[in-house]
Amino acid sequence: MRTWDVIVIGGGIIGLSLALALRKRGAKVLVVERGEPGREASYAAGGMLVEASAETPAVLQPLVTASAGMHPEFARELQVESGIDPDMRDFGAIVFPAADPSHAPGSALPAPLSELEPALAANNRPAFFLSERSVDPRALTHAAYGACRHLGVDFSSGDEVTEVLSSNGHASGARTVKTSFHAEKIVNCAGAWAGQIPPSRFPTRPVKGQMLCLAAPSRSFLKHVIRTPDVYIIPRSDGRILVGASVEEAGFDKRTDPEVMKNFHRHALDLIPTLHDAKILEDWAGLRPGTPDALPILGATDTPGYFVATGHFRDGILLAPVTAQIMADVISGRDCGFDLAPFLASRFWLGGGGPPVR
Ligand SMILES: Cc1cc2nc3c(=O)[nH]c(=O)nc-3n(C[C@H](O)[C@H](O)[C@H](O)COP(=O)(O)OP(=O)(O)OC[C@H]3O[C@@H](n4cnc5c(N)ncnc54)[C@H](O)[C@@H]3O)c2cc1C
Repeated sequence: MRTWDVIVIGGGIIGLSLALALRKRGAKVLVVERGEPGREASYAAGGMLVEASAETPAVLQPLVTASAGMHPEFARELQVESGIDPDMRDFGAIVFPAADPSHAPGSALPAPLSELEPALAANNRPAFFLSERSVDPRALTHAAYGACRHLGVDFSSGDEVTEVLSSNGHASGARTVKTSFHAEKIVNCAGAWAGQIPPSRFPTRPVKGQMLCLAAPSRSFLKHVIRTPDVYIIPRSDGRILVGASVEEAGFDKRTDPEVMKNFHRHALDLIPTLHDAKILEDWAGLRPGTPDALPILGATDTPGYFVATGHFRDGILLAPVTAQIMADVISGRDCGFDLAPFLASRFWLGGGGPPVR
């Protein structure tokens, strides 16, 4: 019987980054992905690496700051190992805040708006600058997959894990509809679906996000990420322009809504009228892994050998490098250097009489 040191359930950016980190430390790793790796939330994301946001919970900030700092090297390494360019851009974001924000969401613009982004419609609204990067999450995830393959991570694609197996109270493997795989360490990185795998203890839920993609008239048409209270606009180096994103409680429904797309289009044209003739290339929806307190679930579970890394909600692309490092440390029994107490799965059942069993 073939065995591995670690089985990672789910081949999104979180599972792939972790598989790679573990492999680089010498572990034999198997990723079990029910579909194709990197085709769910990690395929749908915008790829903003937002380091400073009023929406970031304070306990998450140390991970956000660390991960934002790790991204350039992470992206470079993935590119070297896979030959795929994750399109890391470092031009910053221009933010138009809601009227009367309680505090400025960034610093003063480094130059007049008309110089920074000539395509933006003239307006008198206050605007701020944030120094932050972006990546193309599809390319990043594809690069992570390529790097995994290059470094010898094994994959099983096409069958979902139906159960995490245990033997004498210790995790021992993962069962799919067709077969079982064996390892002493199992990590649930199944994103919005993480709570569906028995024995399920993780209150993850899907939070739908829709996105529209336009073709800019030229590759250098827009430089910065633009954020307003209504939409954000993310340029890619190949000339694609993403407009998004909705935040919806819609279960596992991934259909797009023409009304939402019309709304995105209208907001984009209000901001950048010269996009009027831009071709609509694509629209899509993805399911962010949400949790009741909007914090990720990271670390060991109450079953020895069973770990979890999910619930990254709106920041999973940003948090992938630090999550991989933290989880690789935890799984190999090392101190990860972060206080993981706010992120442990046990926070959802502490005082509640033990983990819910479904
Ligand atoms: C519209 C939108 C915009 C976003 N924008 C940003 C952004 O700008 N910046 C940012 O940092 N984040 C952003 N996010 C969030 C980010 O996409 C997610 O946090 C991140 O992709 C989560 O990665 P993941 O690997 O946990 O999940 P996923 O990418 O969903 O991967 C989970 C994987 O597990 C697999 N799986 C599920 N169940 C099973 C099973 N039983 N057996 C085997 N495999 C299974 C799935 O098929 C999937 O491939 C955005 C998300 C959306 C939807």
